[in-house]
Amino acid sequence: MNTRFYNAKILRTKPNQRFEIEEGELWVQGNRISYLGKSPERKVREETTWDREIDAKGNLLMPGFKNAHTHSGMTFLRSLADDLPLQEWLFQQIFPKEAQLVPEDLYWLTALANLEYLTSGITTQFDMYFFQEEVAKACVDMGFRLVQTSGLNNFGGSIAELEEKYLKFNEYHELSSYFLGFHAEYTTSKELMEGVASLVQKYKAPLYVHNSETKQEVEDCKKRYGLSPTQFLDRLGMYDYGGGGYHCVWFNDTDINIFAHKGLSAVTNPGSNAKLASGIAPIKKMLKAGVNIAIGTDGPASNNCLDMWKEMFLVSSLAKLKDMDAAVVDGEQVLYMATAGGAKAMGLGEADCLEIGKLADLILIDLNQPNMQPINHITKNLVYSGSKQNVKLTMVNGKILYEENRFFTNLDPAEIYRKANEIVKRMK
Ligand SMILES: [Zn+2]
Repeated sequence: MNTRFYNAKILRTKPNQRFEIEEGELWVQGNRISYLGKSPERKVREETTWDREIDAKGNLLMPGFKNAHTHSGMTFLRSLADDLPLQEWLFQQIFPKEAQLVPEDLYWLTALANLEYLTSGITTQFDMYFFQEEVAKACVDMGFRLVQTSGLNNFGGSIAELEEKYLKFNEYHELSSYFLGFHAEYTTSKELMEGVASLVQKYKAPLYVHNSETKQEVEDCKKRYGLSPTQFLDRLGMYDYGGGGYHCVWFNDTDINIFAHKGLSAVTNPGSNAKLASGIAPIKKMLKAGVNIAIGTDGPASNNCLDMWKEMFLVSSLAKLKDMDAAVVDGEQVLYMATAGGAKAMGLGEADCLEIGKLADLILIDLNQPNMQPINHITKNLVYSGSKQNVKLTMVNGKILYEENRFFTNLDPAEIYRKANEIVKRMK
């Protein structure tokens, strides 16, 4: 599929987490960006056979958002058990219902999440859930890019299974990749964690895990091992080859230094952390230390929407509130976290920005709407007043999967909704 965008504004990623906007054309040939710049002469344009030539009408092409932490299959739990204390929510609502899922459910529940990602301009999800074969199948069938990690813990999974999945899903399809990982320190025995650490060492591979989401989690870890989760995982050799943590709310200065020193990524989930009253991540301190920050929605049971626009606003506003200082984080830094920062965390160096040769994971943003006018500062508009209503088109791996409120994903949205509702009705 060859697509030519013309009359476009193009968001270029610059050093130091800054952006510039250029006017011109962007060409996609196959799954990669083949040209970017001023309009070439007609003769040059006509050398290519175009499947689509899209007049962007002065709207903005930008890299797709990277959702760096989610549990997509939890779509079935959306708005089913809200406004409860965390422990009651988890043990009396979430776990008993998850136990009733069968593998095929995950195909449809993940497909539902993918539709929502596309409407929000998200082009890749970093998923931790179970029945991962069905998750991968749904994404490949729809043409959606997927990074997975394991939710291994005391209640499910084994080291042998983790190794098998790591090998399998890194070779599964060009849209699929897989990181070593496990659920969290507080759900996993020391023996099991030592097994995970041995895989990290064997494959010299990065690792991802829920880390310091709640105050209780950190206090309990200190009681058990005399160290914070970050320090304990580091002691086990888990972080010797990169990776990072999800949430990273209750980090102290030592934790932040370990993340900075080892080049780890902190994936912040402000919507989920606010809704579950977990706390606010130390964004200011992490930025100052040079930690790579990415943004995730977390699962739809704790958010409840899969919307990067809302998350960007929350990253910024909560960080400012935490320090009572409106200057702690710049809007462009947040936009960087949602795009290139996420790509870095997810091992997607080929899909981090709009450059010739990069993978064509991109979105077209409608600037001709009231919330984007006047055009004083486009990048600030994106972070502070943008919303999914501005997403005109979402392209993944060179294919348009969403355009003008319509999906082009090989699956019928009405069937996906029907299946999701059937799954919920079946639950006891
Ligand atoms: Zn999570």
